[in-house]
Amino acid sequence: MTTSGKLVIISGPSGSGKSTVVQRLLNESELPLVLSVSATTRPPRGGEENGKNYIFLSQDEFQKRRLSGDFLECKEVFGRGYWYGTLRNVVSTGLSEGKWVILEIDVQGALAVLQDNPQAITIFVHPGSMAELEKRLRNRGTESQESIQRRLDVAAEELALRHHYAHEVINAEINSTVQQLCKLLVQYQGEKIPCSKN
Ligand code: 5GP
Repeated sequence: MTTSGKLVIISGPSGSGKSTVVQRLLNESELPLVLSVSATTRPPRGGEENGKNYIFLSQDEFQKRRLSGDFLECKEVFGRGYWYGTLRNVVSTGLSEGKWVILEIDVQGALAVLQDNPQAITIFVHPGSMAELEKRLRNRGTESQESIQRRLDVAAEELALRHHYAHEVINAEINSTVQQLCKLLVQYQGEKIPCSKN
């Protein structure tokens, strides 16, 4: 089926600032962007809202939905037993409405989605260096020492896979990163891309 909607996959290490970048893009881009709100079994952090940041599910609910085939992709991230997944119906509804559906997901999830959707626009956002990433994770103040170390280990693995993405953006200064991404996305306007997933 051909649709005017597009899939936009944005990944980057935890602490790279990608959630802020995505929120700014949603607010500021004139493109019909919409965020695919993922489901997770991770408990909400302070200020996070169910249905806005994530759909927070119990382990049981998540695994039921997983077995029903509700996820386009899903996986346990960070090896702590917390699952994250992209809901198939969220993506297909957005695409059928002509939206540009942003998936803010990890690299393994991105590679899984790309297998069936090689036409997806892929962007890898990172802070430039591991030292800068560590500084940002510590400044965020939401993670334990153990969690920071785990996130740094995963980040090193993710950075090594960034060549799978069509675009790499270093988030050194938020305003210029957002501008860069807006310009980059606008270049895809007008392209009719066949979508294999709905
Ligand atoms: P956080 O717990 O910091 O919100 O997210 C942890 C990691 O999970 C981030 O790298 C984020 O991109 C990834 N993530 C969030 N939602 C999904 C999803 O639906 N699928 C996959 N594979 N990863 C996700």
